[in-house]
Amino acid sequence: MVKLFNTCLIIIGCLIPCFHKAQKVYHKRLTDSILKQTPDSSQRVHFVGFDSVVYRNHINYILQFYPTLKYRKITIKAVNASSPLAARPTFWSIFKRAEKRDYLILVSKKTETMIDSILLHKLSLNSQVGVLSHEMSHIYDFSTSHIFHFVFLVFNHASRKKMNAFEYSTDKLTIEQGLGYPLLSWSKEVLDKLKIENWKGVKGYESFKRSSEERYMKPETIQHFINDFPIYQQMSYR
Ligand SMILES: [Zn+2]
Repeated sequence: MVKLFNTCLIIIGCLIPCFHKAQKVYHKRLTDSILKQTPDSSQRVHFVGFDSVVYRNHINYILQFYPTLKYRKITIKAVNASSPLAARPTFWSIFKRAEKRDYLILVSKKTETMIDSILLHKLSLNSQVGVLSHEMSHIYDFSTSHIFHFVFLVFNHASRKKMNAFEYSTDKLTIEQGLGYPLLSWSKEVLDKLKIENWKGVKGYESFKRSSEERYMKPETIQHFINDFPIYQQMSYR
């Protein structure tokens, strides 16, 4: 999910091939013990406003799939926001080189709307990894972007069509990186929890539905890409 700065970097990341993880074994279905076995590579990821113990293993697992990601610091921060998750560079970072940039992943803890059901802490473990992978793909995308791309973000943010294309390409990048299975879990869970018959008339539903319609990949589309992308044959998934 995105908020402010992430509109116009649509194409770059999606075109980056990923053939760097052929020898390792990955998992279609993650568990706590699998995540705990992942080496710690998240020293430059900081947590603000909630317990990092819960999510650090998630991030360690996800970072394996972005070995070329350049950044100085990523802060994952709990906030009161209407969007369940959002990722963006800090303002001054857009003027800096990729390895000097800082990023924020904002995680909503807001209550009282239908979005409650898809807040990070309400999701299954696999879906948590899935949506955090999506946010990491935004950062991966930003990390390869020039300052002029950020300038266009503000203009494109108002365009629903552009935003839909941007989020779709971010999902595609996530699958290309090898994180299709957790993304599939997230897609299914969100679709299930946000069924119209469950939430129609509940505060927050209409605005969320309008803003997110066809924005994220449907489960069948994700499965299609998993079947098609060579990385899922090159890498070993149990
Ligand atoms: Zn997004």
